[in-house]
Amino acid sequence: MSSAEELKLKSSEILERNKKLAIDLSKNILSEPETGYKEFKTNKKIYDALNSLGLQVQNNLAITGLKTTIYGDQPGPHVAVIGELDGLPVPGHPFEDKNTHAAHACGHHIQIGNMLSTLLALNSPEILKNLSGSISFIAVPSEEYVEIEWRKEQRDKGSFEFLGGKQELVKLGIFDEIDISMMTHARGNFSGFGYGGTGNGLVAKFIEFHGKSSHAGGDPHLGINALNAANIALSSIHANRETFFDDNHIRVHPIITHGGSVVNQVPEIVTLETFVRGASIEAIKNANLKVDNCLRAGAMAVGAEVEINTLPGYFPLFHDSNLQEIYKQNLSNKYESQELSHGGGSTDMGDLAHLMPVIHPYVGGATDASAHTAGFIVEDYELAVVEAGKMMAYTIIDLLFDGASKAKEVISKHNPKLTKSEYLKVMREFSNVEVANYNIG
Ligand SMILES: [Zn+2]
Ligand SMILES: [Zn+2]
Repeated sequence: MSSAEELKLKSSEILERNKKLAIDLSKNILSEPETGYKEFKTNKKIYDALNSLGLQVQNNLAITGLKTTIYGDQPGPHVAVIGELDGLPVPGHPFEDKNTHAAHACGHHIQIGNMLSTLLALNSPEILKNLSGSISFIAVPSEEYVEIEWRKEQRDKGSFEFLGGKQELVKLGIFDEIDISMMTHARGNFSGFGYGGTGNGLVAKFIEFHGKSSHAGGDPHLGINALNAANIALSSIHANRETFFDDNHIRVHPIITHGGSVVNQVPEIVTLETFVRGASIEAIKNANLKVDNCLRAGAMAVGAEVEINTLPGYFPLFHDSNLQEIYKQNLSNKYESQELSHGGGSTDMGDLAHLMPVIHPYVGGATDASAHTAGFIVEDYELAVVEAGKMMAYTIIDLLFDGASKAKEVISKHNPKLTKSEYLKVMREFSNVEVANYNIG
């Protein structure tokens, strides 16, 4: 039997011979970006790539998700490597879809590439005969929590329950048999690899202020101005910022998605979307109560009605320290890497972190721009696709080599924060619709 280090070298050679498939797939996905739960072209590209390798694919999981599994010669733990399918609307991005403005401004296209690289590196009898366990590669829909109004409509129609793809896949049982989950995310203004740190969770809100239209010049006294209600609500949220405790990392960042119809009419309907982010569920719940008060205050001030839809968002992210140590060791043999601190962003990888050991490291190779902006472009595919895939493959070799002793140790030392049923219960408790009417006639 080879040693783990010999296997890593072997897997690297295999990947180097086949890496074009992973790089080409990433670039192909970049060229036709799609937003969450609409990633049909992206799905087809991945299906074709997996099919070309002769793999069985479970398709159309949570609409656009895909999963394939390879098996070590001996039974053992089940590790998942994840890639996210979606882009987000970023008008002006050089690779945007001109019709939808979807763009891979968060680099998810390279996640699919580095997931495929890991698959290519491991999917060989020379490697698999030394491993005990299974490895699933799961392409997940809808990580970017955007287009909330559209997703809420789809949710009301029953197309899906949760707005995040991993959440929906958990509900559908796709992660029931998975013991450990890992993925590598792109990062701008960054070189090499980053690991660890924590991330904010969130609840999402879709808000409608209902007023009464009237002629804006002639009869404003007959109207109820929904835009004024929204403005007061936004000011009230700002007035609460000093009450947010620094360590809770609260971020509330509303946008107006409809601000009125025509300028010569008092705005009757104004809609907002916002997140309430924070470092713990408790902190998010507390800030969310304050935001709800602010929304009511806006409606109350002008005698409008407000409908507050609160939607379950993402759980805060943290990493399993034992799993991370194995990954970090693989990085340190080859790369300078840095441990990250707390990040204000959110991902539904945080949801999985409450159910099983996970890591969600970052890889550089993109421009200096912030993610979610038109300037965010991945430039170094060797690093972001091939090397990132290699680091995951090495980690899996460590986990599943030697009778999977390291994977078993990671799993036995991990205390999941929630069971699946507890998780689904918390998610559903976040879901709420409130209608408050302050019209005094
Ligand atoms: Zn993103
Ligand atoms: Zn992302």
